[in-house]
Amino acid sequence: MMSFESFVRLGWSFFRTVLRGFFPRRSQLARFEAQYRPDGVLTTEGPEVALQDGAQRCFSCGACDVAALERGEFGALGPLGPMAFVVGVTRQAGLDLGVAGDAPPALLQALTEACPVRVPFGGLVGLVRRRRAEVEVAALGSAARLRRP
Ligand code: SF4
Repeated sequence: MMSFESFVRLGWSFFRTVLRGFFPRRSQLARFEAQYRPDGVLTTEGPEVALQDGAQRCFSCGACDVAALERGEFGALGPLGPMAFVVGVTRQAGLDLGVAGDAPPALLQALTEACPVRVPFGGLVGLVRRRRAEVEVAALGSAARLRRP
């Protein structure tokens, strides 16, 4: 049975939630994106949304891994293969995806053709390249600020 303290806490949370609903607050999304963009968070606008949608169609069937193995290019998008690349690029799994920046276009096309849900490998690699460039620019900016007297 629920204790009296739990009952009071629950009631107080419910009251605050209802009260907050009467006072609309400004969205903090823009601030959140500005803060975490250098860490690679995706934006909620523009072409990145379409790329995310494309990548999220992946249901981990492994067909792209097989296609890459057959071509002898399993590690071209990272040491864990193309499927792990797709999961990592969309879910920030902490994989080092830097190697993907040099993946040959013919391989990316072949992987998309092998994929039953047509995950856009070419677009995702472009995304990795853009992110790396942004991170490098942010790092240069930070270094310049630190060097200022
Ligand atoms: S072939 Fe497509 S759906 Fe299957 S694991 Fe690869 S990206 Fe995901």
